[in-house]
Amino acid sequence: MRFLRLKEKFSVLGRLALLATCIAIPVPTYANGELLISEGPAGQIRIEVAGSALDTACAAKNGQLFSERLGIKKLNDGVYLQPLNSVVEDDANYLKAARMGGGVYMHLPYFVPAGKCKDAIFEVRARRILWNGKWYNGAIKISVGEVRQKSIFFTNEDAPQVKGASYFDASIPAATRVRLEADFSRIVDFYQDVLGVYPLDDIGIVVAIVRNHGGYSGFGGDSLNIIRISYDNPTLKDLATFDWVITATFTHELAHKLQSERIFLNPLGRQIAEGSADFIKIVILRNAGLIDEAEAKRRILSSAAKCAALADSRSLVEKVRSGGVNYREPYDCGMVYYFVSYYSSGYSGTEYLQVLQRALSGDVDYSQEKASMCMLFEPECSNNRLKGIVGNKEQYLQQIDWLAAQLDARPFPSLERRK
Ligand SMILES: [Zn+2]
Repeated sequence: MRFLRLKEKFSVLGRLALLATCIAIPVPTYANGELLISEGPAGQIRIEVAGSALDTACAAKNGQLFSERLGIKKLNDGVYLQPLNSVVEDDANYLKAARMGGGVYMHLPYFVPAGKCKDAIFEVRARRILWNGKWYNGAIKISVGEVRQKSIFFTNEDAPQVKGASYFDASIPAATRVRLEADFSRIVDFYQDVLGVYPLDDIGIVVAIVRNHGGYSGFGGDSLNIIRISYDNPTLKDLATFDWVITATFTHELAHKLQSERIFLNPLGRQIAEGSADFIKIVILRNAGLIDEAEAKRRILSSAAKCAALADSRSLVEKVRSGGVNYREPYDCGMVYYFVSYYSSGYSGTEYLQVLQRALSGDVDYSQEKASMCMLFEPECSNNRLKGIVGNKEQYLQQIDWLAAQLDARPFPSLERRK
């Protein structure tokens, strides 16, 4: 099975590329035009240019409102169509526009008109619209200046499966949906009561089973103002573990809400982001009672084995420099890194998580012991075990043996409620 890469908010390069796309197009100023967005015919989004836009728009003057590279089709000067496509290409930063259950998911930065269009307004029209963690009925106006890193979901269904700020695809069986809702709420409570953060401020959730022509089966998502989790083309066997995968992915996505964008300034930002998110995921799933200790340990060793299979004569830094990191490595190897950091720290689970939260918030002085905890993959790390984990295969395997022995002999990190 191929796993989809999680298209999260963490591609700094991707953001810069998109920005460059907008800047490079020499077009006149777009004033206060409106772009009316709605579900169009036959699996497309319809974007209609309204108001003063046709007179003043960058589009009307040179006939092109959106960069051709974005694949938004021009029907005429006033109407554009975006086909819905949920197939995630490996080189894509985000899913652009796709059907999710009975609704449509759009990553709005792709639809910012070319030119200086900061005063333009998106008006999204649908029966139910999920924006910044709240539902709206009928229509919502959003200025172009508000859409950085943001997505929107809307549906014209008669009775969408909505609970709080969550949307569940109607093709998810009711019993599964009820289990997921209960698990989600347990996980969110745990973040709040144990880690002291509410991870869903202004955040919506969309969960869907997707059938497309991508020729793969796998799960993935985006973690923006909408946590989108989709399972694409699941087989019958995949559906048997559907609940578990969605709950685990949800827990991982929430962990990203503890992370400052500053950690992506680090060359190993993806290892920090995905590794710590998978570490926090396993610790929380265990402590919230959703998996037992044996299962938690089995998952760590499974990640260690997957990471070993990808190891070679190069260190992590050499791999990153040569662009030779497999997309699973930040997850599996990163998670193992944090467990080694934990077991070599002497901290309790609660203490370790407190320091980790501080490090992930972007505080480079997160601890006086950072030289041995190395939570931000510091090059000057003095912890030989962690140096082995980011070293070549031989060095890595020695430390994995040590980690396996720790997992055997010592308890899993346990977290106490903070209030
Ligand atoms: Zn992630």
